[in-house]
Amino acid sequence: MAVSVENYLKVKEELAVTDTLLVAVSKKKPIEDILALYNLGQRDFGENYVQELLEKQPLLPADIRWHFIGHLQRNKVKYIANLCFLIHGVDSLALLDEINKQAIRHNKIIDCLLQVHIAQEETKFGFNETELAAVLPQLTTRKNVRVKGLMGMASFTTQETRVREEFRQLKNCVNKFAPYFSVDNDPVVSMGMSGDYSIAVQEGSTLVRIGSLLFGTRH
Ligand SMILES: *Cc1c(COP(=O)(O)O)cnc(C)c1O
Repeated sequence: MAVSVENYLKVKEELAVTDTLLVAVSKKKPIEDILALYNLGQRDFGENYVQELLEKQPLLPADIRWHFIGHLQRNKVKYIANLCFLIHGVDSLALLDEINKQAIRHNKIIDCLLQVHIAQEETKFGFNETELAAVLPQLTTRKNVRVKGLMGMASFTTQETRVREEFRQLKNCVNKFAPYFSVDNDPVVSMGMSGDYSIAVQEGSTLVRIGSLLFGTRH
């Protein structure tokens, strides 16, 4: 097994200082690896693929909080609507409408984050700031979804200043649009992965999504 208990404890200790939530990203990792972290007290896990989540979820403890962090297709929402704690990557109003529809069908409220395009790379999904300003005021009519904050991925680069700048941009967006989020306290700022989570925490992340550092590299 490639789970690193040492890295897990180190990350937990670092995040405790700022009370940042750790989502352990378990995509492509087996049940045993997830259980190893579960047995250390980890309850928040992240998955990217609908089919994989559907296969794993019934085999694992019911008190795991599943975060869907991948790119979600509208026609797959119905499969996971009833088993996600938080859907991170909502990148269109049409997707949000489908989540709202499925939430109504299950008579529940589904918590979501809108994904913001902060990286300079072409391939990353998400809204830009102008689009956010247009979309956020429309959320009130979608009564069965609760948008709790924003999620973003920085550029895949070793240039720390650029990554820091992109995280800062996301944090600024959350501050700027704070009144639109459905939260009792502070909005969620989902940013930071294995390679850049320390920078993300310094820039105000409230939730990091860490995979390979905890579970080993994916193949
Ligand atoms: C895979 C993934 C992660 C985790 O990446 P690591 O570099 O393995 O920590 C975090 N967020 C998203 C959206 C991912 O797809």
